[in-house]
Amino acid sequence: MNKDQCLRAVNQLMEDRRTQGKIESNRRRETIAAEVPAIGQKEKELQENHASFFRFIAEGGDSEEEFLKFRDKSLALQEEIKQLLVENGYPETYLDPVYHCSLCADEGVVDGVLCPCYKQALSEQYLAQSGMEKLFAKCSFAAFDLSLYPTEGDGDISPRDKMKKILAFAKNYVKNFGDDAQNLLFVGEPGCGKTFLSVCIGCELIRSGKFVLYAPVQDLLADFEAATFKNKESTMPTEEYLDADLLIIDDLGTEFYSSFVESTLYSVINTRLTRKKPTVISTNLTPDERDECYASRLNSRLNYSFANVPFPAANLRAETLKRRAAKGKKG
Ligand SMILES: [Zn+2]
Repeated sequence: MNKDQCLRAVNQLMEDRRTQGKIESNRRRETIAAEVPAIGQKEKELQENHASFFRFIAEGGDSEEEFLKFRDKSLALQEEIKQLLVENGYPETYLDPVYHCSLCADEGVVDGVLCPCYKQALSEQYLAQSGMEKLFAKCSFAAFDLSLYPTEGDGDISPRDKMKKILAFAKNYVKNFGDDAQNLLFVGEPGCGKTFLSVCIGCELIRSGKFVLYAPVQDLLADFEAATFKNKESTMPTEEYLDADLLIIDDLGTEFYSSFVESTLYSVINTRLTRKKPTVISTNLTPDERDECYASRLNSRLNYSFANVPFPAANLRAETLKRRAAKGKKG
């Protein structure tokens, strides 16, 4: 699914919600009219008053006195309906329009700005098509298993204790997330939990209504290549990468190096820095390896504009497999 299809899907969702709201609203009106005929009668009078008003306008009516008469009658009827609702044990707003999101009345836009409900639906669409939906289902801080990290290691602090601190840091990051949030560089060997934690952060933020995109570096570069050379269809419009509330770039360093790659990475990272849009990058490359791989302007961004988060050595995949095998033997 490309962006337009995602957008269409979300627009359709909004339309379905509006339709559902109308159906629910009509159902309530019919129920009330049957249960409390006096309310049904007032509703009918209200509709007739509206119809008369539109006829008055259509026939060129412009008398302010008449206009006020229509308005006052409408307000009085609405007030009477409210009173009747309350007298009959219903909330006075029972016949108000029914919305999934009252902020935007299911239009998806408030004062020309996308409503959080729309952004959330769009993020989920993007996440689904970014190939993370399987990760998304199980990725949460609660699912983060610290016991997979060894309690003994080389340094003063064990890998498990080190990871505990990183997890606490990540939770705090999500809690205080805003446009001024730090850029993070997750550094560590393959299988030490960088992707999992970055996806946890992304998923937690999506749950709080943020617009988050995740992409392995090669997918991101392929989209920029497609957009630049128009040789293939890109899955994600490049502007989205530049403007998402959070962009997660996974596996930096696994791409094939070229000057296009270098300049694209620099441009994505630098543009997001300029726009104060935070980025989380995970990489297996050590600082020395990064020095070898990338030109100084990209490296200086990574070194000075990102908080370096070194992950403890661990092999989560091997540990998970070992446990599964042990469980199998027992069973
Ligand atoms: Zn909304």
